[in-house]
Amino acid sequence: MDGRISLTLILGEIEETISSLNNNNLIDAWYLDGFSPNKNPEMWTEDILRLVNKFSHQETTFSTYTSARLVKDNLKNSGFEVHKSQGFGNKRHMLIGTSGTNQKKERESTKKIAIIGAGIAGCCLAYKLAKRGHTVDIYDKSNSASTGATGNKILVTYPRLSAHDSSYARFCLHSFLYASRFYDQLKTSAWIKSGVFLMSHDSASKKRETSLLSARQDNLIFEQFDSHEISSKAGIKLNNGGLFFPHGGYILSEEICKDLLEHQKINQIFSTKITKVKVTKENKTLITVNSKDHEYTHVCICSGAESTDLIQINGVNPKRGQVSYIESSSEYKDLNFPVCAGGYLSPLIEDIHVLGSSYSNNKSEEVIEEEHLENIKKLEDIFSFKVNVLGGNVGFRAVTKDRLPLVGAIEGIYLNAGHGSRGSTSAPICAEFISDHIDKTPTSIDQEVSLALRADRFN
Ligand SMILES: Cc1cc2nc3c(=O)[nH]c(=O)nc-3n(C[C@H](O)[C@H](O)[C@H](O)COP(=O)(O)OP(=O)(O)OC[C@H]3O[C@@H](n4cnc5c(N)ncnc54)[C@H](O)[C@@H]3O)c2cc1C
Repeated sequence: MDGRISLTLILGEIEETISSLNNNNLIDAWYLDGFSPNKNPEMWTEDILRLVNKFSHQETTFSTYTSARLVKDNLKNSGFEVHKSQGFGNKRHMLIGTSGTNQKKERESTKKIAIIGAGIAGCCLAYKLAKRGHTVDIYDKSNSASTGATGNKILVTYPRLSAHDSSYARFCLHSFLYASRFYDQLKTSAWIKSGVFLMSHDSASKKRETSLLSARQDNLIFEQFDSHEISSKAGIKLNNGGLFFPHGGYILSEEICKDLLEHQKINQIFSTKITKVKVTKENKTLITVNSKDHEYTHVCICSGAESTDLIQINGVNPKRGQVSYIESSSEYKDLNFPVCAGGYLSPLIEDIHVLGSSYSNNKSEEVIEEEHLENIKKLEDIFSFKVNVLGGNVGFRAVTKDRLPLVGAIEGIYLNAGHGSRGSTSAPICAEFISDHIDKTPTSIDQEVSLALRADRFN
């Protein structure tokens, strides 16, 4: 099916996980497989089955191997129409039925969708929607994709983890694992899954390392290395130990955006600035291009730090960042993966290394010496070699107050922005989330996290 079917596995206790489905999740068919009602009564309570019914639509069916009286009664009491049917294997009977009277699910249809902004957020979304059969017009005011914050040669893909269970921590871990698998399945040479090393270079990062290791030591997400071990793995001498993330890596931004947009259902419309987006009283979604309105079934603003020009949102600010391109040298040319400390250093890309990145409120779009010096200063934590700067690049991150992106609809217009300093990690799952909203299919982000991402949460 060319990636058009996805499996969402939700692991955990039924009482907690079922209520974490969100109202967008209307399920087509349930197979209730909760062991024998005697041995596992928690699975078959009326409360649980009411929630099963709540997340069903008019044509949803269920089946279960059991025909126990308790199950039958609880299913009926929770709104299902229940029938006894011939069983299978050594079972004489089983129960089947429909959900009753919930709202009808919209039949799958193809839609005409406009995306404003061809950075990593817009390109991931265009790819996902086109794969689902929708027609996508992606607009950018520049003359190609990947020119805004995404315009750095590379973006390093790794998570900002926390040992505490919060919506923020769950989003960070989940989006990272999702991104790594998403880029894997693109089978593109623009994703280099080298792993990423997160160095513990000061007291705050050492504290974070200790706290992460106290939360998990299964080596599945990260593994601890001292400076000696990591130097031998990295291929160059590094100053500190820390945590290695084997699922991390980096994307070559321009190439990956090109790959993502290469689909016959995607029309790339460049050098075109959108000046207005609106929903009319008649519920038409319009965008204005050169004073002319164009109608779409859905519009999604993916305009990074400039999204506030098109939609009224609070809690997001532009933060300038500059990367420095440094000349390679025999001392560090063999670096095998990105190393992140206060700043980061990339392996050799073409014939330079990318050294990132400054973080300031300066509004200038020019590369400035002062911020090269800031980057070089941060490099001292990573290694002790001298470097020679050849050039750089400037971008503006869209940074939210709580460091989570802004994802979802505001009065009929979708927003996918606020990816801050981690767009390559957060963009893929946010693209899937918005596509699921548009298609009314089960989302891969639970209810609590989706509330934490709400696009209008600061309004
Ligand atoms: C110096 C620096 C280093 C970074 N390093 C990393 C890193 O290593 N790893 C990582 O994951 N992230 C990193 N980031 C963050 C990352 O770059 C962003 O999170 C990500 O690029 C945001 O992508 P986006 O698509 O939301 O926005 P953008 O890439 O900014 O794209 C928005 C697009 O919208 C277009 N646009 C805006 N307004 C309009 C309009 N009215 N009409 C038409 N088009 C419009 C713009 O031209 C632009 O192309 C870094 C950022 C900076 C600045």
